[in-house]
Amino acid sequence: QAKANGRSHFSFFSDEMNQLAQERLALETALREALQQRTLTLHYQPQINLESGRLHGIEALARWHHPTFGNVSPMRFIPLAEECGLIGQLGQWALEESCRQLAAWRRAGLDVPAISVNLSPTNFHNLELTRYINDTLSEHALAPRDLTLEITESVLLDTNPSTLRTLNEVHAQGIGLSMDDFGTGYSSLGYLRRLPLDELKLDKIFVHDMEHDETALALTHAVIRIGESLKMTVVAEGVETQAQRELLEQQGYKVAQGYLFSRPLAPEQMEDWLRRTVDQNT
Ligand code: C2E
Ligand code: MG
Ligand code: MG
Ligand code: MG
Repeated sequence: QAKANGRSHFSFFSDEMNQLAQERLALETALREALQQRTLTLHYQPQINLESGRLHGIEALARWHHPTFGNVSPMRFIPLAEECGLIGQLGQWALEESCRQLAAWRRAGLDVPAISVNLSPTNFHNLELTRYINDTLSEHALAPRDLTLEITESVLLDTNPSTLRTLNEVHAQGIGLSMDDFGTGYSSLGYLRRLPLDELKLDKIFVHDMEHDETALALTHAVIRIGESLKMTVVAEGVETQAQRELLEQQGYKVAQGYLFSRPLAPEQMEDWLRRTVDQNT
C-alpha cells in the first residue's frame, strides 16, 4: 500500500526522513567508491617543539573531496565509515598512505621525526593490526618509533576484548600511543594506569577557552602536570594565537599544534613548508 502510493498515510518515512535516508545512502556508496579508488587524501599538520622551534612530528588528517558532494568533513565521513563497516579499510589506508608519505619525504632529504595517524576504536578489534602495521613499516623501511597512533577516550567504552590486547601489542613494538582530545570524553583518570600511553593531546576546547575562562586555564595546568608526572609527551592542540602559546609555554607545555603554526596542508604544501622550515633552522 505505502509502496504504491508514496503519499499514503501508511508510508513509514516522511518525505523529509526519506530524503535524509537517501542522502546518507548516496554518501555511503560514494565513500565506498572513494576507498576503492583511493581518492581520499591526507592533509598534514606540523607539531612544533616550542623550545627549539623545530618540528616534533606531523599529524595526518583524512580529507574527502567528492565531485558532487564537494568537501565532506571527517566529522561526517568518519562516523559514517564506522556505521557502514568501512572504518577498517579507512584505517589501513591512512596507515599505509602516511607511511608511504613519510618515507618519500625522508628520501627527499626532509627531516620529519615521526608521523601521527588517527585510528578509531574499531580498528583495534582487528587482531591482525599489529602485524599489518609492522608489515607496512618494514615495507617503507620505517622504525616503530616513526609512527604514533592517536586514539580517543571512546576506546574506553569499547568492550571488545581485543582492544586492550592490540593496544598493548602495538605499544610493546615501540609504536607510540597518544590519547587525543584529552579531557573531553571520560570522567575517570584511572585508565591512565591501564592504557600504555606515551602522549596526551590536550583538547583544543581548553586552549580555545584558557584566556577567558579560569576553569579552562586551571585544567590546562592540571593536564601538563599529569603528563609530566606520568612522563608522557603532552601536545596542546588548536593553538591559534600567540597569547595562547605564551600561556601554554608558561605552564610548561613543550609541544603544540594549531593554526598559529600551520593549518593542515596538502602534501605538496607540506613539503614546501618543510623546506622553508629547514632553511630557517640551518
Ligand atoms: P583530531 O584528531 O582531534 O584533529 C584535530 C582537528 O582540529 C582537525 O580537524 C584539525 O584540522 C583541527 N585543527 C587543527 N588546528 C586547529 C586550530 O588551530 N584551531 C581549530 N579550531 N581547529 C584546528 P579535522 O581535520 O576536521 O578532523 C576532525 C577529526 O576527524 C579529527 O580530530 C579526528 O578525530 C578525525 N579524523 C581525521 N582524520 C582521520 C582518520 O584518518 N581516521 C580517523 N579514525 N579519524 C580521523
Ligand atoms: Mg588527532
Ligand atoms: Mg584532537
Ligand atoms: Mg577530535
